Amino acid sequence: MRFAVITLFPEIFHAYLGASIMKRAAEKGVASFDIVNLRDFAADKHKTVDDYPYGGGPGMVIKPGPVYDAIKSIKSDGAGTLTILMSPQGRLFDQKAAERLAKEDRRLLFIAGRYEGIDERVKASLVDEELSIGDYVLTGGELPALVIIDAVVRQLPGALGDEDSLAEESFSWGILDYPHYTRPPEWNGMKVPEVLLSGNHGEIARWRRKEALRATLRRRPDLLEKAGPDKMDMELIREIKEEDYGHD
Ligand code: SAM
Repeated sequence: MRFAVITLFPEIFHAYLGASIMKRAAEKGVASFDIVNLRDFAADKHKTVDDYPYGGGPGMVIKPGPVYDAIKSIKSDGAGTLTILMSPQGRLFDQKAAERLAKEDRRLLFIAGRYEGIDERVKASLVDEELSIGDYVLTGGELPALVIIDAVVRQLPGALGDEDSLAEESFSWGILDYPHYTRPPEWNGMKVPEVLLSGNHGEIARWRRKEALRATLRRRPDLLEKAGPDKMDMELIREIKEEDYGHD
């Protein structure tokens, strides 16, 4: 899958995408990253890409011209492109959106804003969708773009060493993940749950499902409602409620 980014800080992307799973995905040809410096498309010798806001007020606004030229340059190869603007005003990004984007056959082009944001006319004419990573304001769109790229790349076949880890992560079942343990079997007086040492795969799967449901029930009951538990889940939830609250 092809990713492109327009940013004033390419070095932030090179650092993150040049390590660990993102780096391996690029080496394996699963993902490619084209990081474009917005300043290369400034029209003056001072490389200015921002200007004062019309109507007054604090901060600076990114000019539409350089963004337009950067997008045009990226799209000049003729490849289909989905252009995504990072914005606190965008639709909230979640696992479902990551899965949807991972199925795209178009290149994903992310525009990382800075300052007060980007001239509104860019949104109106050049952007297909606006995404936010949460209800808070960050200094720039670099971290949001990386968050989304990371979540999408993990979904691509061949990106992870062990594809099974994808199927069992939080949210992939619509609920949270189950607890994980590794050696030693006893640490600081705390034991690994007996069932995980039993070798009984059926029992282990049941325990994991139950603990994932328990964690979701305690921390994110909203997810459980959306996931729509099946008959087996309802049975496990009854057990959890009896164990934890003394009733079902
Ligand atoms: N004036 C804008 C507002 O109040 O909505 C905030 C601008 S913010 C300081 C600069 C840039 O960071 C934005 O243009 C956007 O690209 C990015 N950004 C900040 N918070 C974000 C978030 N929660 N999700 C996605 N992008 C974000």
